[in-house]
Amino acid sequence: MRENGLGHLVIVVGAGPAALYCTGKLAEAGHTVLILNRDLKPGGLAEYGIYPTKYKMKEGLRKQFRKILAHPRVLYFGNVAVREDGALRFRDLEALKGSALVVAAGAQGTKSLGVQGEEGPYVYHAKDLVYHYNRLPPFSEQEFPMGARVGIVGIGNVMVDIAHYLVNMRRVEEVIAIARRGPKERAWDDKEMQAIAANIDREALKRELERIRPRLEPLGQEVDALYQALTRHSDVPPEDGASPSRLTFRFLASPTRIVRDEQGGVIGLEVEENTLVDRGGKLAAKGLGQTSRLALDTVIFAIGDRVDPALGLPMKNGAYATNPAPDPQDPEAAKYQVFDPQNGEPREGVFVIGWSRSASEGVVGKARLDGERGAAVVNRFLARRAPLSCREIYQQRIAPIYRRLREQKVPVVHKGLWRILEKVEQEEARKRGLPEFKFGRNEEMLQVLEGAISRLASRSGQVRR
Ligand SMILES: Cc1cc2nc3c(=O)[nH]c(=O)nc-3n(C[C@H](O)[C@H](O)[C@H](O)COP(=O)(O)OP(=O)(O)OC[C@H]3O[C@@H](n4cnc5c(N)ncnc54)[C@H](O)[C@@H]3O)c2cc1C
Repeated sequence: MRENGLGHLVIVVGAGPAALYCTGKLAEAGHTVLILNRDLKPGGLAEYGIYPTKYKMKEGLRKQFRKILAHPRVLYFGNVAVREDGALRFRDLEALKGSALVVAAGAQGTKSLGVQGEEGPYVYHAKDLVYHYNRLPPFSEQEFPMGARVGIVGIGNVMVDIAHYLVNMRRVEEVIAIARRGPKERAWDDKEMQAIAANIDREALKRELERIRPRLEPLGQEVDALYQALTRHSDVPPEDGASPSRLTFRFLASPTRIVRDEQGGVIGLEVEENTLVDRGGKLAAKGLGQTSRLALDTVIFAIGDRVDPALGLPMKNGAYATNPAPDPQDPEAAKYQVFDPQNGEPREGVFVIGWSRSASEGVVGKARLDGERGAAVVNRFLARRAPLSCREIYQQRIAPIYRRLREQKVPVVHKGLWRILEKVEQEEARKRGLPEFKFGRNEEMLQVLEGAISRLASRSGQVRR
């Protein structure tokens, strides 16, 4: 808020890395920022996606997020989902006419291959499982039964994390990573693979590479070099300790059907064999029309996510629509401006950043860059817009949102409460001798907070008396 009592209010939906780094820049520029976040705690996938034992990385990010959220111009309302069918809809926020609205809700929709047999038990989507083992309610409480042979479709870093979980925490017999393309086109970082490289079944890998040798060699891909690259870290003892689980691979295979028995149990995955063809300098998979069946009993899709249509933003081609016509004065802005394909106009003052703008793309560093670039676009937009008074910001915009949430009986977790929750969880970890502790149910967290509030209230009552 400027000295004359005028400023801008930016409402940010989401509190993952993109939202928080964007907020940091907006608050630095002198704007008031109200964050509305579905989860009680901020952090998004930095809290509930990054592998649970990456304690140092997670704590490093939390430290930065705490600093951003501590800014006096930043307000945080956790436990508030913005949804068409929820207590607060996006159109309600637009109707309030704040200065700008930024959507940073990540990619909460599910992408599916649409193959037969996909719906039903023993078939999961990576995000749900990732949320489960990172203890995000309500996924933390759901059960994800696993068979002995678990196929993961996709070979990016998310596959590696899920394989890590299956090998170390579930100790399944075999994890089979299934890729449309070949080993050279793998999308995981070799550094990430180190955690489970010791579990690679080297004999099975040799056999698999021999099987596809006739399809790789015409492309100039050396099978021996690929074997060396894939097993580079296999002799390094895993940090999480040894596990008997085996990690195998099936390359050049696209799922066509999940095979179920009469009771509905998964008994296999039918795949079409692929070859690789050059498409504009990039190798793409091309089906050979020949299918085979992999014997497995659980399938996990790790093929990326899509945005959530229930948030209420206009969509185009499965993504939130952004402005297709860049303004020559500010060409960067169009990528962040939400666009309404129905009337062919940008939605004035509505922006999208991070995985909500580009689903499942990149790591935290990239989300940060996108959030900060988005903030610069919002700043340029606000520079052309009349500021609001303190009263317009707090009494006419923030207070009605809070009132509405209270009327709808949504317990709002503001940043003071979140800090209490953090402290209680840290204390609980200390008591249990764990590196980290997380409550897995919203009700539990809210109860803890209620207890803390009533203790504070009675203490302040005693002081007054
Ligand atoms: C399994 C996995 C492992 C990863 N590991 C790493 C890693 O080791 N290192 C690394 O750098 N990156 C990692 N990443 C990538 C990193 O997590 C993302 O780049 C980053 O979190 C994306 O940030 P975001 O803010 O766009 O979205 P998100 O982090 O998804 O944040 C979205 C936020 O929006 C909120 N939200 C959702 N819907 C609504 C709604 N309707 N209303 C209000 N709020 C809503 C959520 O509560 C959340 O706070 C990993 C990702 C995954 C999936």
